[in-house]
Amino acid sequence: MRGIAAQPGYVVMQPTTLCNLACGYCYLPFRRENRKMPVAVAEAVAAEVADLARTGRFSVVWHGGEPLAAGATHLAALFAPFGGAVEHHVQTNATLIDDAWCEFFAEYDVRVSVSVDGPRERNGERVDRGGKPAYDLITKGIRTLQRHGIPFSTLCVVSDPRPGMATELYEFFLGLGCEVLGINVEEQEGVNLRLNQHDPAAVSAFWAELVAAWRKAPSIHLREVEWTLRYAAAVLDGTADALLPRQLDPIPTIAYDGSVVLLSPELAGFHDLRYGDFTSGNVLTTPLRRILAEATSTPWISEFLNGVEACRTSCPYFGFCGGAHAANRYFEHGRFDGTETNHCRNSKIRLLEGVLDHARDHEATAV
Ligand code: SF4
Repeated sequence: MRGIAAQPGYVVMQPTTLCNLACGYCYLPFRRENRKMPVAVAEAVAAEVADLARTGRFSVVWHGGEPLAAGATHLAALFAPFGGAVEHHVQTNATLIDDAWCEFFAEYDVRVSVSVDGPRERNGERVDRGGKPAYDLITKGIRTLQRHGIPFSTLCVVSDPRPGMATELYEFFLGLGCEVLGINVEEQEGVNLRLNQHDPAAVSAFWAELVAAWRKAPSIHLREVEWTLRYAAAVLDGTADALLPRQLDPIPTIAYDGSVVLLSPELAGFHDLRYGDFTSGNVLTTPLRRILAEATSTPWISEFLNGVEACRTSCPYFGFCGGAHAANRYFEHGRFDGTETNHCRNSKIRLLEGVLDHARDHEATAV
């Protein structure tokens, strides 16, 4: 993997900065303000992605704030320029989902992913602005989706990964009926300054236990574990080099005002004396295609690519990880050309070690 691809696999769109919750680990800077995306921004992006969508499946991921806080009328106006050409996804806290939203999802064939951290007692960080737990509203939203027969994925933040919790978590998601589960170990980024340093053995044991729980009932696509197993199988087959994409996906995030942040949605809305506002242009004044073609002229991006090369030459996990994420380097190191972060230790290195530990334990038991 070298450099940045000229064509993205998907775009992330921010229909509003507003969120109705105030989760303890949230990284978003303007979540109390309702800065809505004008339709002109969606029109500019839709005109640019039309060609990409013609040549294959292309996704638009609506990610806020809370995207449903933009309101159904406004979200429909933002969807309209895309016609039926793309696959729409929303990442939602589910608290606003009602029958009308389910009809909206069905009408636009929206793929829904819900943020929920497991059973009630593990959702303590997901609260409203008054500090009231959001769990009942989240599960009410999920039940509404189910009543309408709308499938959904889940995204679960784990703040303190350790042995003894993964089985309970996995069983909760099995009972919930989701199709896909992604696990994010809490990250120190954006306005969330909490340190994400954990005991390495505890984090590996968490992942190993999660694999064991999943193998007993693998009816959910468990994002991190399935990817790791695919990598391990490719290493055994001698095809691991072909597994990572040849170039990094630029993942353009289109902020509410049309400004474009590449590679890491989490950098949108931040400013730094050295790097400015991290944007690479604005779709209202520059075609997205040109912004992507000139990506490496954004100073922080060329610094990040130096960091990826440093990972390539120094880290034995590079073939699995590919250099991880720009935002984690910035928010942990204050720059982009460092290598290891707590994020990559928790979510790349310990993940691979945990899966391998599970395989070794299993082999020992089988013998
Ligand atoms: S695991 Fe960390 S140090 Fe290794 S390649 Fe990934 S980001 Fe770089």
